[in-house]
Amino acid sequence: MLKKDNSNPTKQCHFCVNNIKDIDYKDVESIKPFTDSHARIMKHRRTATCTRHQRKLTLAIKRARFMSLLPFISG
Ligand SMILES: [Zn+2]
Repeated sequence: MLKKDNSNPTKQCHFCVNNIKDIDYKDVESIKPFTDSHARIMKHRRTATCTRHQRKLTLAIKRARFMSLLPFISG
């Protein structure tokens, strides 16, 4: 049985569509939209990011946090 998913079923991976192979952690403007209001990394199911890019994205966000470019989860 198929599960119904309400979150943009036709949406494609942002990084595949834009032909971005490597995600730069210094490019905060690009990776910030993939964090939620609590600065958490969004699940790939919500952003339609493919597994390959999701891994790179997670790494980039973690690096950006470490370099204080992105906030850590607060509270
Ligand atoms: Zn992708």
